[in-house]
Amino acid sequence: PDAVVPRRVSRFDVPASRPAATAHDAARPGSPTGFHNATDTDPAVAAHREWAARLVGPDSGFVPVRTPETTDTGQIDAVVARAVEVREQWAAVPAAGRARVLREAARQLELRRGDLVAAAVHEPGKTVAETDPEVTEAIDFAAYYAAAAEALDTVDGADFAPEGVTLVTPPWNFPVAIPIGGVLAALAAGSTVLAKPAPPTPRCYELAVEAVQAALEAVAPEIGLPADVARDAVQLLRVPDGEAGKHLVTHPAVSRVVLTGALETAQMFSRWNPERPVLAETSGKNALVVTPSADLDLAVADVVRSAFGHAGQKCSASSLVILVGSVGDEKTVTGERFRRQLVDAVRSLAVGPATSLSTVMGPLTEPATGKLHRALTSLEPGERWLVEPRRLDDVADAAGIDPDRLWSPGLRDGVAPGSFFHLTEVFGPVLGILRAATLEEAIELQNAVSYGLTGGIHSLDADEIATWLDRVEVGNAYVNRHITGAIVQRQSFGGWKGSVVGPGAKAGGPNYVAQLGRWSDGADVP
Ligand code: GLU
Repeated sequence: PDAVVPRRVSRFDVPASRPAATAHDAARPGSPTGFHNATDTDPAVAAHREWAARLVGPDSGFVPVRTPETTDTGQIDAVVARAVEVREQWAAVPAAGRARVLREAARQLELRRGDLVAAAVHEPGKTVAETDPEVTEAIDFAAYYAAAAEALDTVDGADFAPEGVTLVTPPWNFPVAIPIGGVLAALAAGSTVLAKPAPPTPRCYELAVEAVQAALEAVAPEIGLPADVARDAVQLLRVPDGEAGKHLVTHPAVSRVVLTGALETAQMFSRWNPERPVLAETSGKNALVVTPSADLDLAVADVVRSAFGHAGQKCSASSLVILVGSVGDEKTVTGERFRRQLVDAVRSLAVGPATSLSTVMGPLTEPATGKLHRALTSLEPGERWLVEPRRLDDVADAAGIDPDRLWSPGLRDGVAPGSFFHLTEVFGPVLGILRAATLEEAIELQNAVSYGLTGGIHSLDADEIATWLDRVEVGNAYVNRHITGAIVQRQSFGGWKGSVVGPGAKAGGPNYVAQLGRWSDGADVP
């Protein structure tokens, strides 16, 4: 991996104007938060189930993607040429006008919430409970980046200027929030945008881009742009990976690439065009540390949520838990209890298709191959299964899913320092247990990985927490909380070490938009 550079210092603290509350704070009837643990007599649960059933059932109204895929380089060039053609007009819109578009985009996304959830259930197989908050995150990005656009003009004597055409190439695991976050940030910075869907999730992107285009058209008269020019400030370009994808990524008219994906992909993009900035949030191999002072019930719940939400297919997922002292010693009451509760919690996860509302852990988006298949089917020396993963052929058949996509969760004990499972991102529903005699040793194990995306500690001891926060090498450090699900503005999201390429300002944080243009003093990020 690239050099280790701490990225915690920046020139602004907060945007000049910040939204009073995020959509996460807003009371919304039927919010699914916690509905798995609520009782059916709770009216909010009943309302939510009724709403959700309309999205996932046979009459869900899910429509597959309409935009055709293209490998025709002439067609790709024409779309890129249009992004270049409207670039000056979009860049000339003052920041207040761009912010106006983003606030309208928030509204358009909310109007499409049901369709967006349905698309994410049907395409990548995300559960409603995972997807609905993701739509909320997309809306939060819109409101937050609108404020960030308004704060851009001059910082510490340096002036901001929009620059060029940004290509946004997001992943399939957050098929609404990540693409829309990248698209909106680039628009906020005054760049025109090409959005390239991840191949498994074209409909999610199409819907999200349609929402933004509707906002651009609606606001066009106020910002003095013809509707078609405003609309084409963002264009969807459905190009498969491979030669056509390379043609797009290396296109000379693309001035910047925003990527969320594997570190190898970011490095490949940089090799293809060494001169052109690639801004990437990449891989992670994340751990949660549990010390003997922790609230163990809370720790078990947060470990399970962090490891198995969306079947572990999050860069932020915890695929390691590091047990300190007695928590990892089954001869103690503490250790025995922790192991038993963790095993029970993992075994009792309801696994099935995302189209069933009782599913807690849905399928993999793509069949398990390579490193993930290895992690699901074999152990390394010294390891043993506490819960062995199984391919759920019967459930998969009944649901019409490729059985290689439907696995029950795995819990492997005895992961050795420096081993395959300690250091390798597998991106799926497998959690490994490591043990440490002291907190210091636990931090060393946590920092031994080449990535530095998320990490957590469960401890009720203030000194332990302070030591850990001081030494852990991750972009997002969580205390007594699950380690997925960063919230815009409150927990801006980004990596450190091998989890980031480029200036590295965090998504949903104050410098994200600022890194997507040009500063008169030549700095990457103000
Ligand atoms: N922002 C997401 C989270 O906090 C993770 C995004 C990713 O997997 O890339 O869980």
